[in-house]
Amino acid sequence: MAIETVGVIGTGTMGNGIAQVFAQNGQKVVMVDINGERLDAARKIIEASLNRLVKKEKLAADQVQPIMDRLTTSTELAGAKDADFVVEAVTEDEELKCKIHKELGGLLRPEGIISSNTSSIPITLLATASGRPERFIGMHFMNPVPVMKLVEVIRGHDTSDETTQTTVDLAKSLGKTPVECRDFPGFVANRILMPIINEAIYTLYEGIAGVEEIDTIAKLGFAHPMGPLQLADFIGLDVCLAIMRVLQEGFGDPKFRPCPLLVQLVTAGHLGDKTGRGFYTWENHKVSGVAYT
Ligand code: NAD
Repeated sequence: MAIETVGVIGTGTMGNGIAQVFAQNGQKVVMVDINGERLDAARKIIEASLNRLVKKEKLAADQVQPIMDRLTTSTELAGAKDADFVVEAVTEDEELKCKIHKELGGLLRPEGIISSNTSSIPITLLATASGRPERFIGMHFMNPVPVMKLVEVIRGHDTSDETTQTTVDLAKSLGKTPVECRDFPGFVANRILMPIINEAIYTLYEGIAGVEEIDTIAKLGFAHPMGPLQLADFIGLDVCLAIMRVLQEGFGDPKFRPCPLLVQLVTAGHLGDKTGRGFYTWENHKVSGVAYT
């Protein structure tokens, strides 16, 4: 099935990047967000990102305008009704996502495919809400989308082989590496990553080492480009907590209990990069100091 028009629902951190990679790939992209300011910001962020690629000689300067021209915006879900393929990237909220997928399922033509970029909400639950479970799939991009190669492709209980193949082919056409997995809590990436982050927070909470020491040990010891506490700030501490709660509830295993310090920082509104403070202080999306001592 040829994918000519893509709908991207929610143009925050992830939606921006997802819209950019599809537009660069030649697809027409309809960006939908309830917040019009987010849509204006998304266009600016994408244009700046494309211009950075031009500076690095990874994109020809005369390609920027045609890519921007392929992007349109709407504050209504109906704006995406003609899409062949939709990627939903709205806030990680089960009730909100179910509502959106129910509506999308009724809007798209029958052969249209719907995907969700959710980090942790069961794909089968969203697929059921859409009313087209065989044409529903998880397409989990990594942050930052234009840079990261991995796309986790998550089959819901009733996702068809055809839908899976179309999604895998689409991810490959974007230059990504799609990897298939089944629909169980945290899928694969977050089931492994979040307990690492949570354990790093426990190590801090128990006073075993400081923020920079923990991150340095992880970076140098495991050859990770970023330590787990910095990565937690980058992802958003609220997102990390929400995923830990999905793992805890989904498996009922105490090993997934969120660290009380993670809960406290989220309660205080210190969510990392997006609020300027988490384990670190942040300025212009860069670490400027240690916030938690
Ligand atoms: P974000 O908060 O940056 O953006 C969410 C966007 O959704 C906002 O622009 C908001 O206005 C919009 N939105 C909310 N309700 C809406 C509605 N009813 N209709 C249309 N738009 C609506 O969030 P994000 O970090 O981009 O995360 C989006 C999704 O991607 C989540 O499911 C998250 O779990 C997942 N994800 C996030 C990351 C990450 O590192 N941030 C990585 C992988 C996956």
